Amino acid sequence: MKPQKVIVLGATGTIGRRTLDVLKQLQQSDPTWDCVGLACGSRVDRILEDAKKHWPAAKVASVIDDDRADFCGSDAALHLVEACASTETIVVSAIVGAAGLRPTLRAIELGASVALANKETLVCAGHLVQQALKSSPGTLWPVDSEHAAIAQCLRGIRSDQIKSIVLTASGGPFRDTPLSDLREVTPQQALNHPVWDMGPRITIASATMANKALELIEAHHLFAVNDQRLEAIIHPTSLVHGMVHLCDGTTLLQMCTPDMAGPIRWALTAGEHDAAVAPTLNPLELTSLEFTPVDTERFPFVGLGFEVIRKGGGAGCVLNAADEVCVQAFLDGRLPYLDVYHFVAEAVDRFGHHDPSTLTDILELDIAVREDVANRIP
Ligand code: NDP
Ligand code: MG
Repeated sequence: MKPQKVIVLGATGTIGRRTLDVLKQLQQSDPTWDCVGLACGSRVDRILEDAKKHWPAAKVASVIDDDRADFCGSDAALHLVEACASTETIVVSAIVGAAGLRPTLRAIELGASVALANKETLVCAGHLVQQALKSSPGTLWPVDSEHAAIAQCLRGIRSDQIKSIVLTASGGPFRDTPLSDLREVTPQQALNHPVWDMGPRITIASATMANKALELIEAHHLFAVNDQRLEAIIHPTSLVHGMVHLCDGTTLLQMCTPDMAGPIRWALTAGEHDAAVAPTLNPLELTSLEFTPVDTERFPFVGLGFEVIRKGGGAGCVLNAADEVCVQAFLDGRLPYLDVYHFVAEAVDRFGHHDPSTLTDILELDIAVREDVANRIP
């Protein structure tokens, strides 16, 4: 395991803070591990404290103006990457939403390796990411637990040996809620995820399963499989994170107690499994592993995810932009829970035929969808 210079984008968030915990552990066993850059939105105080204490050399980027930060403003994370990323660094991409796209893509272009939590980067610009990776010495390591699991299953497996890839989903807080009650769901109820501790956008997207739609699109780009070779199933205890069915009838699956420290450390260490990150599972206690099909009436987002994969082009960018706007409107009490799906699906209908080829085209489409959806929300 080669120690790395690490840049953490989204350092104040759930993944960002867990990353800093993991980094401190790595640094304890080898002091040459270092953090050279930290980026956040508005909670800059949180990272300054950490930086002063543990990583005095780290440059700091913040969206809000703060004279203690090295870079400020909406492009601060991008400027931080341009100043600090190189073939010697690993960039942990953990900004939430399409805001993570430009700095992440730039990190790949600069030859850095990327530990990717920001699935939106692949959802919005999967083809640009794959193109940039071709001419980069760096590697893309998925941090999303399902994708890290599948990447682990796929070691030594060729693409033509894969029959299908299965993403598991906990089903969120409304897995068993009577359908007639979903109309009245409040933000507080939707924020109460049974398994994972995550930021608000991804928590709401886990309740609606828009997150699984994003993850299916993410898997499509990461593993180069079409919708016919992708599945999602409900697995309430989130012990199995992903499965791969092979053509010969073999199924590989990856299990671990749900804690993002596992995939974060695996990605930072370029695929090592050398430290006790999570407790070892006791097979004698695994009396039943429950799997159920996704209820498509309850979770129509999963079907929409497959539709977006078939559409290709800019449809992923549209789904993501519309969902970001609708989730915020739901959290603000301006949009009922069930309308999140309806507004996103309508946006995919209206804008899904766009086929942006450049980053500029993608960013323009993202803005156009946001404006359109925001104007339609009463
Ligand atoms: P959080 O909401 O907890 O954190 C988001 C982070 O992004 C914060 O540091 C926030 O800064 C920062 N941020 C927001 N907007 C900007 C911006 N414009 N420029 C720079 N920084 C910005 O989210 P999570 O940590 O839960 O999720 C982060 C990403 O990881 C998402 O893409 C999510 O889908 C993915 N992911 C998360 C998982 C989890 O378990 N949480 C699991 C798998 C994937 P500030 O707080 O200062 O405003
Ligand atoms: Mg996930």
